[in-house]
Amino acid sequence: MLYIKKDRNYQLILFKKRIQRISKASLWAVQEKKRMKVVIVGGGAAGISTASNIRRNDDDAEIIVITMEKHIAYSPCAIPYVLSGDVEHFEDIVMHQPEDYLEKNIKVITNSEVFEIKSNENKLKYRIKNQHIGIEKEISYDYLVIATGATSFIPPISGTKLEGVFKIRTLEDGMIIKDWAGENRVAVVVGAGLIGLETAYGLKKMGLEVTVTEMLPQLIPRSLDSDMARIIQEYIENEGIKIILGHPIEEITGEKRVEKAIIGDQVIDTDMVIMATGIRPQIKLAEIAGCKIGRWAILVNEKMQTSIPNIYAVGDCVEVYDAITKQNTQSPLGTTAVRQGKIAAKNIVGIKAEFKAVLNAMVSKIGAMEFGAVGSSKASAMHNGIEVISGKSRALTKARYYPGAKRIDVKIISTLKGRIIGCQIVAEERVAERLDTMSLVIAQEVTCSELAEMEFSYAPPLSMVIDPIILAAENACEKLNKLGK
Ligand SMILES: Cc1cc2nc3c(=O)[nH]c(=O)nc-3n(C[C@H](O)[C@H](O)[C@H](O)COP(=O)(O)OP(=O)(O)OC[C@H]3O[C@@H](n4cnc5c(N)ncnc54)[C@H](O)[C@@H]3O)c2cc1C
Repeated sequence: MLYIKKDRNYQLILFKKRIQRISKASLWAVQEKKRMKVVIVGGGAAGISTASNIRRNDDDAEIIVITMEKHIAYSPCAIPYVLSGDVEHFEDIVMHQPEDYLEKNIKVITNSEVFEIKSNENKLKYRIKNQHIGIEKEISYDYLVIATGATSFIPPISGTKLEGVFKIRTLEDGMIIKDWAGENRVAVVVGAGLIGLETAYGLKKMGLEVTVTEMLPQLIPRSLDSDMARIIQEYIENEGIKIILGHPIEEITGEKRVEKAIIGDQVIDTDMVIMATGIRPQIKLAEIAGCKIGRWAILVNEKMQTSIPNIYAVGDCVEVYDAITKQNTQSPLGTTAVRQGKIAAKNIVGIKAEFKAVLNAMVSKIGAMEFGAVGSSKASAMHNGIEVISGKSRALTKARYYPGAKRIDVKIISTLKGRIIGCQIVAEERVAERLDTMSLVIAQEVTCSELAEMEFSYAPPLSMVIDPIILAAENACEKLNKLGK
C-alpha cells in the first residue's frame, strides 16, 4: 500500500516536471517565433515608416535601422521652405533623433553604409563612415527591408564637379546650398520640376537673382499639361524669376568654381548652379542581394516583397503599378514612401495588406501659388494611347462678392467613356483638399456626369455655390455630349 502511495507521488512529481518542461519549451517557442530580427537599410521616410509600423504591430521584434546619413526622420520636402525662410531652421525639419527610437526599442545606426548582402545566409555587412576601411561589421536578419531611396541624377555635361554646383536631395545638401547662397548673388536652377521650382523660389526669397532652365518646353512637365503650367510660369516670372524653356544646359564653366552656365545660345554668369534634374533609384544593394530589378527600379509585389521572400523593399527605390496606364512606373513621393512602409511592416508581422496602384497625387506651393495634379495629364494619356477630352473651369475660391476670393483653375481629364482619369488645379488657396477629393473620384472610377451631380458643401467665405470642380465636370460632359458620347 505504502509502495503504491509512494509510486503515485513519484508519478505526480514526474507529471508536474513534464508539464513545466513543456510549458517552458512552448514559451520559448512562442518567444522564438515572436522575436524576429528585422534589419532596415535606410533612415528616410520609407525606412522609418517601416520600423515604426513594425513596432506598432509587434512589441518584441528586434528592429535595426542602418543609414548612411547623420540625420534620420527629417523631411526633405521642407528643404526649399527653409531656404525661403518660411521654416526658420533646418533643425525644425528633423522630426526625431536616433535616441527617440531607442525609447521604442528601435536601434538606429547612423553614418554607416551597407555594402554587401548575402541573401543565402541572411546576413549583411556595413562599414562605419569616415573610419578605416577595416571597421566593418556583419549582422544577420530574419527579414531585410531595402529602403535606400534615390540619388540625384546629374546629366553628363562638363563642369558639374566645380565648386558652387550642387545637387538637392539630403538635409546636408540643403544646409550647404543655404550657406553658399547666403554669400552669393546669382543662381541658376536646372530642371523645372517641383523641386527645381520650389528651390528657385527659396533662393529668390534669399535675395538672389535666379534663372530656372528646363530642357522641355514647359514647367512641371511630368505632371501638368502646358496650359496649366503656363499659369504657374506667369506667376513665377512676375515674382522676378527668369525662365528658359526648351533648352538643355550644355556646359558649366569656371576655373575652380562655377562662373558660367551655357544654355542654348545663352551664357549666364552665375555664382551657383543647382542640379534639380531628376533622380535615379538606388538599386545597387538589391542587385547585390539578387533581387529582381524591373524597368525603373526594384520589383516588388503588392506586399512590398521582392523576388527574395524575406527581403522587402519600399520607397523611392521600388517601382509601382500605375492605376491609369496599367504599367509599372515610379512614385518618388514622401506619401508613397510612408504608405509602402506601413504595408511592408504589416506583411512582415503577418498581417495581410496590399499596396494599391498609384495615382501619384502631388501638390506644391510656390510663394502664394498652390498647384497640384493627380492621375494622368492629357499629354500623358495621349502619349499612352488613351483617347481623352478635358473639362476646364476658371472660377473663384469663395463667393464672388466675398472679400479675398482668389482665382482657381481646374482641369479634369476624362476618357471618351466619361471616366475621370486625371485632374490638375492651380489657385492661391485650397488646392490640396480639392485634389484629394479628385484622388478619391479617380480611384472610385467616377464618371464626369456622376461628378457633375455630386453634393458639395457651400458657404460664401469658403466656397462657390457651384464648386469649380463641378463646373469643370460639367464642361467635360458638354464636350462628351458634343462628341455623341
Ligand atoms: C527637396 C525635396 C522636396 C520634396 N518635396 C516633396 C513633397 O512636397 N511631397 C512629397 O510627397 N515628396 C517630396 N519629395 C520626395 C520625398 O522626399 C521622397 O520621395 C522620400 O523622401 C523618399 O523616401 P525614401 O525613404 O524612399 O528615400 P530617402 O529619403 O532618400 O532615404 C533613403 C535612405 O537610405 C539611406 N541609404 C541609401 N543607401 C544606403 C546604404 N547602402 N547603406 C545605408 N543607408 C543607405 C540614405 O542614407 C537614406 O537614409 C521631395 C524630395 C526632395 C529632395
